Amino acid sequence: MTRPADLAVVGGGVLGVSLALRARSLYPSWSITVVDQQPLGRGATGHSLAVVAPSGHTPYVRALATRSAELYRSPPWRDAVRPRRALLVAPQGSEALLGEQLTTAVAPATPAGLEHLGTAYESLFIAPTESVYAVENGFLQVDPVILSALLTPSRVEVVDDFTVVHCRRSGLHWDLTSDCARVLRAERVALCTGPWGDPESIADGVPWGGPPGSTKRVAALHVPRPGAADDDPLLVFPQDNLLLSPGERRVAVSFLRTGTRSAPLPVRSAAEWSSFGADVPFGADDLVEGRAALAVRCPEMAGQAVSGQAFWDTYLPGSEPRVERAPGSLPPLVRISGAAGSGVRLAPALADEALARLFSR
Ligand SMILES: Cc1cc2nc3c(=O)[nH]c(=O)nc-3n(C[C@H](O)[C@H](O)[C@H](O)COP(=O)(O)OP(=O)(O)OC[C@H]3O[C@@H](n4cnc5c(N)ncnc54)[C@H](O)[C@@H]3O)c2cc1C
Repeated sequence: MTRPADLAVVGGGVLGVSLALRARSLYPSWSITVVDQQPLGRGATGHSLAVVAPSGHTPYVRALATRSAELYRSPPWRDAVRPRRALLVAPQGSEALLGEQLTTAVAPATPAGLEHLGTAYESLFIAPTESVYAVENGFLQVDPVILSALLTPSRVEVVDDFTVVHCRRSGLHWDLTSDCARVLRAERVALCTGPWGDPESIADGVPWGGPPGSTKRVAALHVPRPGAADDDPLLVFPQDNLLLSPGERRVAVSFLRTGTRSAPLPVRSAAEWSSFGADVPFGADDLVEGRAALAVRCPEMAGQAVSGQAFWDTYLPGSEPRVERAPGSLPPLVRISGAAGSGVRLAPALADEALARLFSR
């Protein structure tokens, strides 16, 4: 058997890729392998709007958001990230409340900002009791395709047809076994499997179960807008759970979707992937719900929406992400679970936490 990898990462979404990139910069001599059951970017990350908001609903999440923003602006992430201007619409006098939730300063939008808003989003409804706030240096947007492409120049091996069905401790190593009975041996393992949940993991004959959680549907609506430009500001309605992200000739609108499922997505073999689309299409119900959410603010745009994207995301009680190490696991096995709708925002900081856990008892 070939020499064990220093680190095996199961799952090549934003969490797994970020972990591999961070491990590469902290431990340049490590051999690192990322395995996925499919080509990278077909999970939640590939369906994401990938906006990095400088915010958090608890002090722990805000600390993670601050650390992530620092790392996203540093090599190698910065090559996959661009800053976005953002405007927030919230009730008048919300400065103090927004200040508690955001990790960067907000200020009332300037007259020029308001004028730009009017041009970028015609027929926009803002109540007389609301104000528009500018967040100039806080928001970022990640390109998940560019992010995954950073693995190769970083000398991270990627194996994208490896469905891990179980991880077993074998002496000083972990053996990851695929559905085709291939085995990857590693000295350290990180599980970053997103909404699929963990493969079976056993150390010293004791199974390690995941935390109780569910998966939640997250969706975005696409509205063709010939005049939309990449540098138009993001528009956020925190109280409506609505985010408008202008891009090349379209606006993507993220809205709160109602569906949840209590079981994680099933682990599937590579051969079953062709039928997977049936699980997660952006369907007629999504279109109706997305249009209704957008119509409150931009009725004209809501009528023009024709398509979108939807996927499942991990949802943990309290909506806080978790980084855990299997009890007593030497060699170590850690798991990162994102929280609903924030995996991209927090990924680099969670990667840092997971690496620290690999070395703590
Ligand atoms: C429409 C939409 C909009 C969103 N917008 C935002 C946003 O603006 N900002 C934000 O922060 N978040 C957003 N999110 C949420 C965000 O996309 C997720 O939180 C994040 O992508 C989760 O990343 P992940 O790496 O945990 O999971 P994934 O990207 O799903 O990656 C998990 C990977 O693990 C692989 N895998 C699973 N099990 C196995 C196995 N047994 N063996 C091998 N491989 C396996 C899967 O194939 C997959 O590639 C959005 C989500 C959606 C759907």
